[in-house]
Amino acid sequence: MLLTECAELAVPATGGRRTVIIGGGTVGLYAARELVKRGQEVVVIECGGQALGNFAPESFASVGKPHDGIRLGRARNLGGTSNLWGGQLVEFQPVDFAGRDWVPDSKWPVTYAEVAAHYERTYANLGIPREFLDDRQVFKHAGGATTDFTEGLELFLTRWLKVPSLSVAYAEEIRSHEKFKVLLNHTVVGFAGANGAITAIRIVDHAGKEHLIGGDEFILAAGTIEIARLLLHAAATPSWDCPWRNNENVGAYFQDHLVGRVAALEVLDRRRFFNTFSTIVWSGHKFQPKIRLTDQTLQSSRIMNIQAMMSFESSISENLVYLKQFVKAALYSRKFSGLGDLFRNLRACGAHLLPLMWKYVVQNRIFVPGTSKISLNIQGEQTPLKASRISIDPAVKDADGLPKAILDWRVGSEEIASIREFTLHCDRALRAAGLARLHLADWLMNLEPKFAATLHDNYHQSGGARMGETEKDGVVDRDLRVFGTTNLYVIGAASFRTTSNANVTFTALALVTRLVDRLTSGRGGSFSSR
Ligand SMILES: Cc1cc2nc3c(=O)[nH]c(=O)nc-3n(C[C@H](O)[C@H](O)[C@H](O)COP(=O)(O)OP(=O)(O)OC[C@H]3O[C@@H](n4cnc5c(N)ncnc54)[C@H](O)[C@@H]3O)c2cc1C
Repeated sequence: MLLTECAELAVPATGGRRTVIIGGGTVGLYAARELVKRGQEVVVIECGGQALGNFAPESFASVGKPHDGIRLGRARNLGGTSNLWGGQLVEFQPVDFAGRDWVPDSKWPVTYAEVAAHYERTYANLGIPREFLDDRQVFKHAGGATTDFTEGLELFLTRWLKVPSLSVAYAEEIRSHEKFKVLLNHTVVGFAGANGAITAIRIVDHAGKEHLIGGDEFILAAGTIEIARLLLHAAATPSWDCPWRNNENVGAYFQDHLVGRVAALEVLDRRRFFNTFSTIVWSGHKFQPKIRLTDQTLQSSRIMNIQAMMSFESSISENLVYLKQFVKAALYSRKFSGLGDLFRNLRACGAHLLPLMWKYVVQNRIFVPGTSKISLNIQGEQTPLKASRISIDPAVKDADGLPKAILDWRVGSEEIASIREFTLHCDRALRAAGLARLHLADWLMNLEPKFAATLHDNYHQSGGARMGETEKDGVVDRDLRVFGTTNLYVIGAASFRTTSNANVTFTALALVTRLVDRLTSGRGGSFSSR
């Protein structure tokens, strides 16, 4: 049920428990749907409406390494950032959780096995069929095969959602299910409760009036930056005895992926190269081939976890992006501009149009024009740094009374050496396979600090409420519960200790699948047994 007035939530459903989710974005809506499927009443409080919205410019500032995502990589509306993302699902590797002595602070309180045990169910919940999980099957579908590389390099596929926006994908369930309650245009500004038990959240309506919404458990799903902002604001509110007031990890260890172009690529064998690296399509899902190092190689070379993908740039790249967006908009009723633009872009594709359609329909691949410039782009993790953090400026408040969020994104200096080492592995392996040769940028070869300035964030904001063994080194425990509380949880990449090479959201969703199991199996039970 979509609600616009909080009066409709005054009385909880009789008998059952109520879970309150703060933020109706990607992980919040996923959590809500999974809880409702298990019979739980859920109330989602979303500060935005149904149309795409942004956070007010006066509500945040970036003062460290320039961070685009705080401005461009977040959405304030139902479905949250899933209205902007591509919906690319990527798994973490065992090495990411185990703790590495060359990456300080990298050991998670949960193991890879505990998280990976929820990957398959998370794919199923997101509508990814089982046969799509086998890379060999997918390559076979597109007339290709996986390639075995030397140098400890492995080829892997990422899987993309057919409908990336979760507010679109779940629209009918939200509309029709009486236990799936979503209150729009109300902002959560604080908490109420005593002795570690949260009894209600404080929300502000569209007229600026404050209300309390009660519940049995509360799940913070407001996105990395807003989660830190809310927790820090609550801790700074003198009138409330905040359980996490003295936890100095709140807001700390903010991370994002570092991305950038690292080498120009010269193809040695066109047919095999494109069979290996061009994107596959199957039943409306995309599968993108990427490369990474095996766990074993990461352990022996003691470098950070990085992935690489091919970037194809051609004279019609922009037209293809437009056409892709047009088709998506037409299929899922999002906004799109008129037919004039469509014909202009189709005309620009000119002679490429027929091969493009042939490739898609007959060969199940995305077409890449033969004249494309190809480069190798990387996405890598950064060292977790306590000084890289989100803080608040209580002197500057937004219209809802929340203090300004200040992001001081910091990145260490050792990442560049890892990127060079990784790119050299790629070069040797691609040459040995007879596929391609890389020409590394001089700045990278010479480890010049100015290379770091060419790297930017990838809208994968993480940390700020990281998981820890105790409150001395984290904000939430291994069950995602905020230390000092009995019933407040954090979901999303805010709880991550490290970010792997992989896009963060799929692992965040797998952790939600795990949390839903805990919340809906015998009360007071825990999935904590190691
Ligand atoms: C262009 C782009 C492409 C991306 N591609 C990928 C990808 O392919 N794969 C991947 O893994 N990741 C990708 N990401 C990152 C991914 O989109 C995010 O990691 C993910 O959507 C975050 O989900 P979330 O639920 O934590 O936050 P969000 O989806 O941002 O949701 C948070 C919600 O909380 C609401 N909210 C905030 N504060 C309050 C408050 N005080 N009260 C009430 N409501 C509040 C917000 O309005 C929002 O709806 C991409 C991001 C962008 C921008």
